[in-house]
Amino acid sequence: MDAKRRVPSVDLRGDDGVSVRTWADQAWPELADLAERGSGEVGLVPVGATEQHGPHLPTGTDTLVAVALCDAVSARTGAPVLPAIPVACSYGHGTQLPGTLSLTPELLAAVVRQYAEWAAASGLTRVLFVNSHFGNTASLAIATDHLRLFRPDLQVGSVDWWTADPVVAREAVADGDDVHAHRAETSLMLAIAPELVHLDRLASADDPDRTVDLVFRYTAPALSTNGVTGRPSEATVELGELVLTRTVDAITAMVERGRAEKPPLGPAPVPPFSPAPYPAH
Ligand SMILES: [Zn+2]
Repeated sequence: MDAKRRVPSVDLRGDDGVSVRTWADQAWPELADLAERGSGEVGLVPVGATEQHGPHLPTGTDTLVAVALCDAVSARTGAPVLPAIPVACSYGHGTQLPGTLSLTPELLAAVVRQYAEWAAASGLTRVLFVNSHFGNTASLAIATDHLRLFRPDLQVGSVDWWTADPVVAREAVADGDDVHAHRAETSLMLAIAPELVHLDRLASADDPDRTVDLVFRYTAPALSTNGVTGRPSEATVELGELVLTRTVDAITAMVERGRAEKPPLGPAPVPPFSPAPYPAH
């Protein structure tokens, strides 16, 4: 995918002209600084998805969004962007509509753990997973739970775009709590990759959020007629630029804080027992 080469319509570059530092474009000598004692660098991992996104957005929407966010933060901070995780956990979308690919939630958690452990082998001991898909949050929580207990030498966290900033958090749920292919996400895509948005389908793409007051959990075919939750017809480039800019600001601030962050009381000891093996699939 050529996602990381996309240039959003809003200028997200830093004032000092730092360019995107893409892990996979570097030769090993260019990554040697990560192992320098006290470098404190924070790596960014875009965590996306490949899944149906209603009739108007591409299946790679979440990956495009996650990569665009990480690239913009990297351009401001110089933080390296590791290869994206483009297929993640999309169980919530079921199999009715074409286009969805998924790992098991357990496998995604294992992939996230292994990303952090292998990045640390190159000296990158601080990693922030930048998530653009609601269905990945449980796996990210499981993975970071394992890591924080068994690898206290690492610092690993995750951030979801729809909660990174308070204004964005309000906009993200303006047309329903089930964030998917809706007003804010469609707006983001209008700002990031407008050529991939089917504008002619927007007006008829709305489908209401049917999750309000539900007690149990269901997959998309039980909740949505067309894979949409919300009102993409209300999407605008201006809203997309607002969401993009504020989210990039918030994640940039996290990277800057993360570079200097220490465990408040120092690193915890390693547990006196081994971690459970990675789950079988
Ligand atoms: Zn999405």
